[in-house]
This record gives sequence, C-alpha cells and structure tokens, in this order.
Amino acid sequence: MKFVADSMLGRLATWLRVLGYDTHYQPHYRDGELASLMQQDRRLVTRDRTRWKHSGEVVFLDSNLVGEQLKELLAGLKLQPEPSAWFTRCLRCNVLLETVADEEAIEKVPEYVFYQSRGNIKTCRSCGRYFWPGSHRNRMLQQLTAWGVAESAPTYGLT
Ligand SMILES: [Zn+2]
Repeated sequence: MKFVADSMLGRLATWLRVLGYDTHYQPHYRDGELASLMQQDRRLVTRDRTRWKHSGEVVFLDSNLVGEQLKELLAGLKLQPEPSAWFTRCLRCNVLLETVADEEAIEKVPEYVFYQSRGNIKTCRSCGRYFWPGSHRNRMLQQLTAWGVAESAPTYGLT
C-alpha cells in the first residue's frame, strides 16, 4: 500500500516511512499534483474533507496529533504494520535502504559501529547516509509502543 501525504502531514509521513510504507510527501503541492500522484496508485492521506470528499482512494484524518493520526490511519485501513518492514526505508528520501557489504561499511561508519552492527548496516543510495540499529531507533520504538502501535519495544528489530 502506497500513500501520498497532504501538506501539513509531514510528521505523519515520516512515521509511515518508519513503518515501511512508501509515502510521498512534499510541504507544497502544485495544482493537480496530488491528483496525479493518486493516479499512480497512491492513496491520499489528508485532513481536508471539503476538498477531497468526492475523490476515490482517500484516507481522512481528524486528529492533529501525529500519534492519533497514525492510529486513525491504521485502524481505518485495518493495517497491521509488519515489524520486518520497519526501518527499511530512508525517512528523508522514502527509498528502500540497502544492506552494505563489510568492505564498504568499514570505510563509512565509525569502527565501533562496524563491529557492533556488522551485517546490519544500511545505506540510502539517494542521500548517501548510513544507518544502523541504535539509540535513535530505540526511541522511535518506544514512541510506537507508547502509541500502542508496537506491542513491546524491545522485541522488534534490535540487535
Ligand atoms: Zn535518503
């Protein structure tokens, strides 16, 4: 399932990417741009019922709190985010991360990270950043747990 998030839903878009959903987002859309993204099999996520009420694949959200928005969306579409897809996508670029071979990783990340996370180091080929399991990820898992999206933070994805 692919999404396009309306402007003003940037934080929600980031969290959808955390959960592995392909989510297009830009802070401003030109006339017709959202409609054409929807034609590319993306479901629009918006708070604007007036403008989009006669459009097809639209998810309307009521809350202005990102945690509530995420829960509304998942409940509305009956989605159960698959933990194996979490943290597989660049939160900035929305592209899938690639696991990096040891030869590349040792050149690109601090040595202690390489030895701690060997085999678990990923990169985004769009922005060139490197990622590994760490405290940032743990904080996001704790947040998902607090929202009731993740059942128990320490269970998933930690190495
Ligand atoms: Zn990136």
